[in-house]
Amino acid sequence: ARILLLGNGGREHALAWKLSQSDLLDRLYVCPGNGGTAQEPKTFNVDLSPSDFPRLVEFAVKNEVNLVVPGPEQPLVDGIETYFRKVGIPVFGPSVLAARMEGSKAFSKDFMARHNIPTAKFRVFKSYQVDDAIEYVKTCGHKVVLKASGLAGGKGVLIPETIEEAFVGLKEMMVDNIFGDAADEVVIEELLTGPEVSVLAFSDGYSIFPLPAAQDHKRIGEGDTGLNTGGMGAYAPAVIATPALIEQIMNESLRPTIDGMRREGFPFVGMLFTGFMLTPGGPKVLEYNVRFGDPETEALMLLLREDVDLVQACAEHHLDSTTIAVRPGFAVSVVLASQGYPGAYPKGKAIEIKAMPSNVVVFHAGTIKSGNNIVTSGGRVLAVTAYAPTIQEALDAAYAGVDAISFEGKTYRRDIGHRALTALRD
Ligand code: ATP
Repeated sequence: ARILLLGNGGREHALAWKLSQSDLLDRLYVCPGNGGTAQEPKTFNVDLSPSDFPRLVEFAVKNEVNLVVPGPEQPLVDGIETYFRKVGIPVFGPSVLAARMEGSKAFSKDFMARHNIPTAKFRVFKSYQVDDAIEYVKTCGHKVVLKASGLAGGKGVLIPETIEEAFVGLKEMMVDNIFGDAADEVVIEELLTGPEVSVLAFSDGYSIFPLPAAQDHKRIGEGDTGLNTGGMGAYAPAVIATPALIEQIMNESLRPTIDGMRREGFPFVGMLFTGFMLTPGGPKVLEYNVRFGDPETEALMLLLREDVDLVQACAEHHLDSTTIAVRPGFAVSVVLASQGYPGAYPKGKAIEIKAMPSNVVVFHAGTIKSGNNIVTSGGRVLAVTAYAPTIQEALDAAYAGVDAISFEGKTYRRDIGHRALTALRD
């Protein structure tokens, strides 16, 4: 296969690492890639933007690419699949219609309601309906979460502590436009409680195969404090996600999602990433993403035994002939960030990576090559990822890897996987 992978984060390095190990791979082009993807075998960084569809198509045709794997959501929501379908190149990713499951929370919530998929109670308001929205918050009888319906880079959710704060939040979203066009529609949801798990699942439009459930760590600070980030670490399998729970999630949520999407005329192809809250009333869907998650993917790629054939089977709609082989044991990914992240941070700091334990892989996120050196170029810099039979061994290996890396301002959490350790102790 000749594969075109789009993106430049830790997720894309993990995907490149995985795909490049396959005997089925001839060449992997990463647009634009990073300092880590550049080092993988059979892999070439190409300086093209993931949003420049005509040039990507031109490049793919010229280089006889026969599979496209978009990393981030924006090109999918913007319809990249249509461009490649026109020239007959399969895409591991949803059509523009199917990508609405991430691109519009109003759309995905209505979809869940139509298909009886468990989710928080909700109402959708257009931005000019601010008075109706306020009236709803006054009378709905429960605490609320406010969500900009469109893509907001993972920042479009407000969780007000009081009803007054909710009114202020609505005004900011609907009148002051703090989230821009993303809040042209606003979803007001019932506040749920419980632990969260992410289930990433492969689908060809018909069948769906989940990877082990993962838990991420969104906040910058230890003990889940401080500002939200793109994710400071992840581990899998999540200890609370028992086989019975996964079966329930498959039956109540994931299979009905895949079946419903196909029946409504927009089958889902690619990676369906569903966020769940495990509430006292059972697991409920918080959101869908229509692509791999970061940093869950870094951990999950160390557990997955499959590679190119699985991605191809999804893109070519014959996944039912495949099963997904996953290693037993645990994978942990610890993100090293630049000082100041998720706020402003410096770039261009030289990175030194000493020898790693054999079960550790260092995925690059915000790095670039500068001469013979690798230097920092983003907020999240590296994802130090380890595999081991037990969670404790995986954590020990990952943190040994963390200690063998230095750059000025290296910032990370010491407590990745704490929920697993607590769950195993109890
Ligand atoms: P992401 O960065 O995960 O893509 P997003 O901006 O698309 O986030 P959601 O996943 O819908 O938005 O919400 C972000 C976070 O807000 C969730 O991970 C969860 O912690 C919290 N949250 C969302 N909905 C609810 C809810 N109904 N009740 C309680 N917490 C919620």
